[in-house]
Amino acid sequence: MFRIRRLHDAVRPVNRAAIDQVRQILREQFPLLADHDIDKVQELLENPLKHGFRSILYVAEDARNKVRGFALLSHEPNLKFCYLDYISAARHGTSGGVGGALYEVVRDEALTLGAVGIFFECLPDDPALCRDPKILKENQARLKFYERFGAMPIVGTAYETPVKPDDDNPPYLVFDPLGQFRPLHRDVARQAVRAILEHRYAHLCPVEYIEKVVASFVDEAVRVRPPRYLKASTTVTAPVPGARRQRIALVVNDRHAIHHVQERGYVEAPVRVQAILRELERSSLFAPHPCRNYSERFLTTIHDRDYVAYFKKVCDTLGDEISVYPYVFPLRNVARPPKELAVRAGYYCIDTFTPLNRNAWRAAKRAVDCTLTAAELLLEGYRATYALVRPPGHHAEKRAFGGFCYFNNAAIAAQLLSAFGPVAILDIDYHHGNGQQVIFYQRSDVLTVSLHGHPRFAYPYFSGFDDETGEGEGHGFNLNLPLPEQLDGSQYREALEKALRRIVRFAPHTLVVCLGLDTAKGDPTGTWSLTAKDFESVGRMIGQLAMPTLLVQEGGYRTRAIGVNARHFFTGFWTAASRDGVKNHGA
Ligand SMILES: [Zn+2]
Repeated sequence: MFRIRRLHDAVRPVNRAAIDQVRQILREQFPLLADHDIDKVQELLENPLKHGFRSILYVAEDARNKVRGFALLSHEPNLKFCYLDYISAARHGTSGGVGGALYEVVRDEALTLGAVGIFFECLPDDPALCRDPKILKENQARLKFYERFGAMPIVGTAYETPVKPDDDNPPYLVFDPLGQFRPLHRDVARQAVRAILEHRYAHLCPVEYIEKVVASFVDEAVRVRPPRYLKASTTVTAPVPGARRQRIALVVNDRHAIHHVQERGYVEAPVRVQAILRELERSSLFAPHPCRNYSERFLTTIHDRDYVAYFKKVCDTLGDEISVYPYVFPLRNVARPPKELAVRAGYYCIDTFTPLNRNAWRAAKRAVDCTLTAAELLLEGYRATYALVRPPGHHAEKRAFGGFCYFNNAAIAAQLLSAFGPVAILDIDYHHGNGQQVIFYQRSDVLTVSLHGHPRFAYPYFSGFDDETGEGEGHGFNLNLPLPEQLDGSQYREALEKALRRIVRFAPHTLVVCLGLDTAKGDPTGTWSLTAKDFESVGRMIGQLAMPTLLVQEGGYRTRAIGVNARHFFTGFWTAASRDGVKNHGA
């Protein structure tokens, strides 16, 4: 779990502490580095132009500000290229994707700076150049990693000529064109190589050596090695650089369809996701990302251990095609639950229409994983991310499922994000977000706001009243805006305006939106009449907040309109968010 931030100075205590940890990583991971090279990192930040390049330092930190990895990128503004000095994960603990995430951020930065590409050195994967088989293996893994991004060693030059004839492991010069598919011109390469060797390796490379290497770039279009580890077609699967600024990261629950309750009238059906995806594919707003896997302990950051254990166990025991509906709800004697698992369902449930079945656990766990992936992508530098998931989550409480929800996806993600700063959850589903309300009711670091049909007539009936404002430390940090049964777009916007003002006053580090689309005209579970145009303006209003935003799919059951409404929402949202420029949450 980490976020990536750019260090702009070496003055603030939090940055000084980060730099100290970067030096420690350098010491551990590059044991041959001299002390003055290690100290240079701080100097580069204090005086970025002193060493011929402008240096940019990124750190990946966990919630306790422990640096898990870093990247030092140098930019040559006149020659328009970047040089990657270091990219490294800390030695201890698994890297957990730190290197990949840092490299993606660095590529985005280089592209934004208008660079022709990134140069960097990488130790050789050729047994003739690297004698130690263990190091050779590491070098192969590293070059394979870069190959995925289209970054290949430059060939046909003298760059990897050892400075002293018997030096082992002379580095390749690798070039990443950042997906721009322009050949690298000899003259650009020559100037870049001269600058790199003079500014970075003057102490190692005599002048004649530098001249010899520069002169060895003779091909007009510099040649790179063809892919060695991956098929050419897979190198383009690396995320498009620039995506973090230009697109919304999209994580779809790839296992949602296994959760299919066939009973008539069960409107929470797989077709909902397909209908949304079909429309989103028509826009170019999204950068798809695969779902990552998370341990079950993330579930218990929000949900009670016995509920999670029960849910998993009961789903495991059910045969295919069997759904269990809770039917006994204990008002007392909760401490003495019945032995039979199916009868016990009511001990953990708020209504009679959310069944348990074999696949409910698997689909719900995957929805949590998708939402956590989207939350992490936000921490890794995206301005906005969207978890298109089902089953939904906002009715799930600490130890209770219901309202088609089993785990509170948004609350689990908000819990993760809250380690990095205050979080606001805005629930715009037609139904009250009772789950996150009760989960965060006593906390002031997670603001919960919900606009919904008044509980007088709308599910869940027992919560969502305007006098529920939070408790203890959380007093004043829950805002309910219950709305009348008949409502059009302009009345809705008025209420939304109020909700957004509260969020702006709270000034969160990140915003989580529970995106229910059941406020739409004709939704079988709602009574309002929002049109596609209304969704566009709702999206625009939220986008104008210009906050790093995680959007989580909740309800919305009119499958004929859900896709079009989602597309309009995101068009409005992204037009506003990308125009106003989401504030970078780096320090
Ligand atoms: Zn709903």
